[in-house]
Amino acid sequence: MKVDYRVVVEALSRIRIDSDPVELWRLYGSRFNRAWETLKDGRVKKYVFRPSGRVVWIVVGRDREYLIYHVVGYCSCDDFYFSVIDGKAPLCHHLIARKLAEVLGRFEAVEQEDEFYSSHLKEWTSVETEREEVLL
Ligand SMILES: [Zn+2]
Repeated sequence: MKVDYRVVVEALSRIRIDSDPVELWRLYGSRFNRAWETLKDGRVKKYVFRPSGRVVWIVVGRDREYLIYHVVGYCSCDDFYFSVIDGKAPLCHHLIARKLAEVLGRFEAVEQEDEFYSSHLKEWTSVETEREEVLL
């Protein structure tokens, strides 16, 4: 399925009525473009664990998968760790991609049994754990 850019713009303007796409471009710059590429490549996944109904959003990167806690606006990537936490950027491109994916319904839905949740989480958070060890 091909998603027209205008569809995204329209969708985004529905999310935030008072912000226009030019503004988003200005705010997010290259991150917006990268988010769009990520979305087009179908690299956003929504895991739903059963029977709990727990939802985990993942963006597949070049080397690994990134865990996203969109409710608090968190991503496990280096860009988030180094740029967003430092206040240099409002969001990493994974967070933008996830938002676009949700709005457009353009993500891969994966259903898993609850028993696999902890092993998945361990894998998704392994880099964060490594980073903490470096800091400690
Ligand atoms: Zn990220």
